[in-house]
Amino acid sequence: MRPGVLTPLFASAQSLAGVGPRVLLLLKKALRLPPGVSAPRVVDLIWHAPTGVIDRRAEPTVADAVPGTIATFAVRVLKHKGPPHGNAKAPYKVACEDETGRIDLVFFHAERKFIERQLPVGSVRYISGRVERYGDALQMAHPDYIVPPEARAELPMLEPVHPLTAGLSGKVLLKLMRQAVERVPDLPEWQEARWLAARGWPSFREAVARLHNPQESGDVSPGAPHWQRLAFDELLAGQVALAMVRQSLKAQRGRAIAATGAIRSKLVDALPFALTRSQVRALGEIEADMAAPQRMLRLLQGDVGSGKTAVALMAMAIAVEAGAQAALMAPTEVLARQHAETIAPLADKAGLSVGLLTGREKGKPRAEILGRLASGEIDILIGTHALFQPEVVFRDLAFAVIDEQHRFGVHQRLALQTKGGSSVADVLVMTATPIPRTLLMTHYGDLDVSRLTEKPAGRKPVVTTLASLDRLEEVIEGLRRALAEGAQVYWVCPLIEDTGASELAAAEQRHAHLAQVLGAGQVGLLHGGMPGRVKDATMAAFAEGRLQVLVSTTVIEVGVNVPNATIMVIEHAERFGLAQLHQLRGRVGRGERQSYCVLIYKPPLGETAEQRLKMMRETEDGFLIAEKDLELRGGGEVLGARQSGMPEFRIANVPGFELLLAAARDDARLLLNDDPALTSPRGAAVRTLLYLFECDEAVRLFRAA
Ligand code: ADP
Ligand code: MG
Repeated sequence: MRPGVLTPLFASAQSLAGVGPRVLLLLKKALRLPPGVSAPRVVDLIWHAPTGVIDRRAEPTVADAVPGTIATFAVRVLKHKGPPHGNAKAPYKVACEDETGRIDLVFFHAERKFIERQLPVGSVRYISGRVERYGDALQMAHPDYIVPPEARAELPMLEPVHPLTAGLSGKVLLKLMRQAVERVPDLPEWQEARWLAARGWPSFREAVARLHNPQESGDVSPGAPHWQRLAFDELLAGQVALAMVRQSLKAQRGRAIAATGAIRSKLVDALPFALTRSQVRALGEIEADMAAPQRMLRLLQGDVGSGKTAVALMAMAIAVEAGAQAALMAPTEVLARQHAETIAPLADKAGLSVGLLTGREKGKPRAEILGRLASGEIDILIGTHALFQPEVVFRDLAFAVIDEQHRFGVHQRLALQTKGGSSVADVLVMTATPIPRTLLMTHYGDLDVSRLTEKPAGRKPVVTTLASLDRLEEVIEGLRRALAEGAQVYWVCPLIEDTGASELAAAEQRHAHLAQVLGAGQVGLLHGGMPGRVKDATMAAFAEGRLQVLVSTTVIEVGVNVPNATIMVIEHAERFGLAQLHQLRGRVGRGERQSYCVLIYKPPLGETAEQRLKMMRETEDGFLIAEKDLELRGGGEVLGARQSGMPEFRIANVPGFELLLAAARDDARLLLNDDPALTSPRGAAVRTLLYLFECDEAVRLFRAA
């Protein structure tokens, strides 16, 4: 159970004064909610950090006020001057003074009653806003604050500025923020006292208060001590959670797989190439993991085209050599089928029996596959997420490969791991996303990693060019020449953000256009909304060279392999992220022939888009591209965190993040070493921390214990 002290923070934001259904909706837009949370809670306000401050601390006399600056004055209200009759456009003015001079408060389109209530003649008011000179007079148009002396404390001398949304004013949000901060209870300290002292960090509660009520302008900076502390809290929670999940996975009984090498040697003979050194090394690491009695959880990173499939096949053979079964899961049906087709002839020669299971296998054929799977007749099952379904039962699953893992969520990954029956299957996750080291650590902790760093021999670099949309005709002319020489072309159509329908329309339109100018029989169309059978037929026609041009939406992004395709045209390339462009380009450059990638963009280019496209032109190094992507987009997004259900930071996007992360990781390790079940006083406090940051997977673990 979540500790009672946290209850006020996890109450709906509607429990705050001033939040009704309308404001709640606005908050939902303005705040970043974690995945699975549909309505804002008090805690979501706490993590909504300010991005700047308005400094109202200057309290000059009226005579000393500097026009153009923001200032706060104590004034006495002298008289009200409404707009003269017949001139409704003139402002409503309220003359005020202090001992040194006069200042007019100016209101356009004013509501008279409201002003009269706020500024009764003869009263003293604190006002704050931008001072202006108007002729000889000093004035302030629409003061930001007008408060009576007894409410002086409500006037924020350093007013934090938060990201807002249309319809939600800073003032309204600030009132809610204050209430939210007041709800933060005194919590048991989960950080080491010495560490806090050494860093000069305040308690959690003080840190939150300081974040939202800055005392000096430097307080609204991720480098400030209280902000660093909160960042460290979040990182520590994440690292403890990861370490716990890892600990429990490793503690689950794995199996030592004793393999003979017999099937692998047949596969090596059947493969039309020799494995690269990277592939051999990765296989060695995988084999060692499988031979060990602990659970295996390894990430195989390799750029598109680096040959991950061959590694997966050889690794699956290890499990089969030991008399068990293996599974290979792909994120899309097209890809699952392609894997099955690539693997089938090799498997045949090595005496492996392979089955295919996707959402499309239904009725009798499906029942038949399930039967052969349960009896152990199928050695290797290839499929999509259909493999997660409970009625898919293996006789003895020892090893699972998950391809292109960033498409899957953590939960799905865990679900597959439990399919091994009494012992859990070893898992190899393959990704073409070259995840930078720091992000790996954040999202996976000390996950074991193998990297394919060499490309298979004989690959030529892809020549990448940029072309503005006005030059479309030239590009098509170029294609015509290449097609005459037998080239094959992918043409990827714009990604349109809000509606899948228009993305589709754009692809259909381009398809019609190209079919018209290049010849109808040559040009195929592939998109996500097509029936699977049609998709397969189109893909097959392209793979076999019956179609020369394949117009598609981004369905081909992941993993499809047609070595004879040497040209990749990406339309509206400025709308794609770097990682996506890199993935798409990886579809070409797989054969012996020179390949090209043409990035068509619509001018004018924004600065980030321009940097992205230039980066693409300059390098093919996936790791460099990933670093740049990280720089341009910031941590949480690189992995496509939202789709995949991976954690995003709430507060920890701070400078020096890597150092904090490394410290959090060490701290988590030490803590769990001494107190694996989190039962010591500090351990108990850390549990509260895990609840606070909603590290559900870890929480489930200690609840189960
Ligand atoms: P990815 O890592 O993107 O999944 P694939 O496994 O699809 O890459 O491999 C891309 C292509 O490279 C395939 O055509 C595959 O047959 C080929 N390939 C894999 N390993 C080698 C190798 N060692 N030498 C030559 N070609 C290879
Ligand atoms: Mg692949």
